[in-house]
Amino acid sequence: MAKQSTDTIDKCDLCTSSICCTYITQEVDTPRSIYDFDTMLWQLYHHDVQFYKEDGSWFMKILNYCLNLQPDGRCGIYETRPIICREHENDFCEYDESTEETADLFFGKPEDLEKYCKKKFKGWKKRYKKFEKKN
Ligand code: SF4
Ligand code: SF4
Repeated sequence: MAKQSTDTIDKCDLCTSSICCTYITQEVDTPRSIYDFDTMLWQLYHHDVQFYKEDGSWFMKILNYCLNLQPDGRCGIYETRPIICREHENDFCEYDESTEETADLFFGKPEDLEKYCKKKFKGWKKRYKKFEKKN
């Protein structure tokens, strides 16, 4: 993940946008109910928030550059970078295929999730009425 200054050129040197340093991810509880998905929709209404499901787990992805990413694509704190950065390998990474391509499900914008929910839940469109009745 990110590069150190060396004389040899490797894959990360070719990755001009340092993709893996431009977002964070956080595993989230598996959404099950209409309320859960409606909350995800609210989150997706915010800039640069995405969701995806991979190997049975759900993740929130926030597109945001790391403070340590240098204009030349190198890591400004290479010697003291976090463990997760050290563990990230470039054998097969986002440079080869994007999360959108590798994920089982990917929601990059609210419309993607709405489309999915309309198919998944018969009562999706009427969810407001249902919720109002409960309160
Ligand atoms: S996305 Fe892959 S190739 Fe690009 S900087 Fe990260 S590990 Fe290197
Ligand atoms: S600390 Fe360095 S390697 Fe880790 S995400 Fe930031 S720029 Fe990339």
